[in-house]
Amino acid sequence: MLNNALFTVDYSEMVIVKDIDFYSLCEHHLLPFFGKCHVAYIPSTRVIGLSKIPRLVDVFARRLQVQERLTNQIADVVRDKIKPIGVAVVVEATHLCMSMRGVEKQNSFAVTSAMHGAFRNNARTRMEFLELIKLRSAVPGVRESAGYACVGDD
Ligand SMILES: [Zn+2]
Repeated sequence: MLNNALFTVDYSEMVIVKDIDFYSLCEHHLLPFFGKCHVAYIPSTRVIGLSKIPRLVDVFARRLQVQERLTNQIADVVRDKIKPIGVAVVVEATHLCMSMRGVEKQNSFAVTSAMHGAFRNNARTRMEFLELIKLRSAVPGVRESAGYACVGDD
């Protein structure tokens, strides 16, 4: 699979940049978490250069982070910059701090999402996006109870 593959979906005018690799440090344990980020938006009048989206992810990932905040910051900046009809961000990450503390292996993997506008209001748009990124794990927004010590602690 291509990294940073670019997709435009003509019938809905949804723009998707998927499988953006990122590497970050959790601010609670100063241990790495890393994985893939997927960003989609439906432009209204303005667009972002597609190559800028991975750079945007990188800028936020380079700080000390928690996964939920990283997800929200990426979504918020796209929303604020171009006022799209909708924006969606999904982050899938493995957290070393969780695996090292002996949490069950499958729980060291976490999925977070931020959905605004059409992606929040329109189930079909949201499903279309989720289908296109083909999550390898759970449905975003649905959390299991254990193993998320590092996600959203703040
Ligand atoms: Zn941590």
